[in-house]
Amino acid sequence: MEYPDRFDVIVIGGGHAGTEAALASARMGCRTLLLTHNIETLGQMSCNPAIGGIGKSHLVKEIDALGGAMGLATDMGGIQFRVLNSRKGPAVRATRAQADRVRYKAAIRGMLENQANLTIFQQAAGDLIVDGDTVRGVVTETGVRFMGETVVLCTGTFLGGVIHIGLDNSRGGRAGDPPSNALAERLRALPFRVDRLKTGTPPRIDAKSVDFSALEEQPGDTPTPVMSYLGSREMHPRQISCHIAQTNERSHEIIRANLDRSPMFSGTIESVGPRYCPSIEDKVHRFADKASHQIFIEPEGLDTHELYPNGISTSLPFDVQLQVVRSMKGLESAHITRPGYAIEYDFFDPRDLKHSLETKFIHNLFFAGQINGTTGYEEAGAQGLLAGLNAARRASGLEAWWPRRDEAYLGVLVDDLITLGTKEPYRMFTSRAEYRLLLREDNADLRLTEAARGLGLIDDRRWAAFSAKREGIEAESARLKASWVQPKTEAADRVAEKTGQPLAREYNLLDLLKRPELGYADVAGLVGEPVEDERIAEQVQIQAKYQGYIDRQQDEIDKLKRHEATRLPDDFDYEQVEGLSNEIRQKLIEARPETLAQAGRISGVTPAAVSILLIHLKKRR
Ligand code: FAD
Repeated sequence: MEYPDRFDVIVIGGGHAGTEAALASARMGCRTLLLTHNIETLGQMSCNPAIGGIGKSHLVKEIDALGGAMGLATDMGGIQFRVLNSRKGPAVRATRAQADRVRYKAAIRGMLENQANLTIFQQAAGDLIVDGDTVRGVVTETGVRFMGETVVLCTGTFLGGVIHIGLDNSRGGRAGDPPSNALAERLRALPFRVDRLKTGTPPRIDAKSVDFSALEEQPGDTPTPVMSYLGSREMHPRQISCHIAQTNERSHEIIRANLDRSPMFSGTIESVGPRYCPSIEDKVHRFADKASHQIFIEPEGLDTHELYPNGISTSLPFDVQLQVVRSMKGLESAHITRPGYAIEYDFFDPRDLKHSLETKFIHNLFFAGQINGTTGYEEAGAQGLLAGLNAARRASGLEAWWPRRDEAYLGVLVDDLITLGTKEPYRMFTSRAEYRLLLREDNADLRLTEAARGLGLIDDRRWAAFSAKREGIEAESARLKASWVQPKTEAADRVAEKTGQPLAREYNLLDLLKRPELGYADVAGLVGEPVEDERIAEQVQIQAKYQGYIDRQQDEIDKLKRHEATRLPDDFDYEQVEGLSNEIRQKLIEARPETLAQAGRISGVTPAAVSILLIHLKKRR
């Protein structure tokens, strides 16, 4: 049957990409359908119930700054919060939260169910309705036809999913869920480049069978960090500790003795897994001289005894998994509640996408999340939001929008994917961004929320909170700049106590704050009253201390911006450009970059070739 209502945006898949896509589109006022296998698994974390960490928290904060759900759901579900790299510079500081899996999911579902313009429907999508080179809708596996202006595919690890435990394998999208085979076959018939990747998850352990006295305790930070710009500590549920266990020589011997029963080493799995999140058998094999690996024993929630042993993702047979777990101190009597497994799945070469995440071959069809070769909830959520936003803009007849590399990690993520593609599951790191000092997790709102408001993604409540914070920062910086400390006064003595040097002349508080020995708390009360809002205080301090470096990065960016703004038209004929080598010409024809700057980032495309393109473009005009 054909469903009687027509949609502007149809999102397939209720994981991290799909939920952000559907919420973004609906927030923008578009009639949105979220079609997913199972309403009970909306926002489900397939693997570790943790959000954030290095590089990833930057994405969560950007999703939040763009009005998305992940940050708030983390504050509603987080049971242990820490700031990683807290002693390093603000550019690489990262908030990480252990989440209660059930509370996180409930928070996401609550937001979806309460979102205006959003309709949820439970069923598997089995086919796309494609008319020529334009998508028109979706057919479910039971034959319901949904017609829509645009379709966003966010099917995660489900396309052609195969689960491996030891040498046994079965079809599945993740443990307990069916794969999407009909849709996978349909997509393989379209002109996209498709390949296989793999990922894995560890066995889960019953906390009642663990001797915690033999493990190292790892409490969360105090004061407790907060993830969302709209979040607060009052939103957090009860906070609990994680623990640390260690593998040992015996664990490694057990693994080595059974490598022939691992599908990765026996050749059953040939696809590539995440290099930075390797299985325990991979770690033992690759780092043969390491006597021990740290394993974080993380609670799965407040109302369950299940634990997630972070660091022993594995596809070894169950009997070997049990021996490995029980070889560790504190886990000698551990009971495994669910075996670990590896999963292989289809992904599509992201070089077949535009910056908007629309596919190059089928108009109005967008891909987001693990389907594009990424790994991680945060990477998926960020792409989902962008794809949902652009699907909604397309349905409204508007031009695509995306952030540049100097504006957001989301800009870096998408540009890396569509320009360079990926041969292994792509995860975000701060090292992937050239402009780390500008792209901090503390300023994602200052970078993006104003633009997001213009795009229709930000409601009045968030806009009011953001505006108050931005005005607070400006007012406090201005106050510090206008407040002076004279030499030989009590305030000057307090400065000398901290810096070891008397003040030789008068200084304003903002200049004093630039000194490495002094923080906001040291200087703000020397004259007048400090602000109470710690987020304003933090921002004023970071901006003062790093202004010099930030200005220098800004200069570089301004130079590059001209190339970012120079569009290469869709019909640009590289055969007509004289002076390009054949190799570079082929690369450009294959990649079809959208801007001159993107052309310059394709490996092998030289600055000289970019100049030739620029000259040719000028001639065309
Ligand atoms: P998913 O979260 O997989 O969501 C896909 C959604 O689409 C599901 O709701 C599904 O039901 C729905 N769906 C699929 N097909 C259809 C269809 N035809 N019709 C309707 N609905 C459909 N990430 C890490 O960062 N670190 C890890 O260590 C890690 N390990 C992992 C281990 C395993 C075993 C798995 C499965 C994943 C792991 N991940 C890991 C990846 C992480 O779970 C994903 O990156 C993230 O969930 C991707 O989000 P997504 O929205 O793209 O897809």
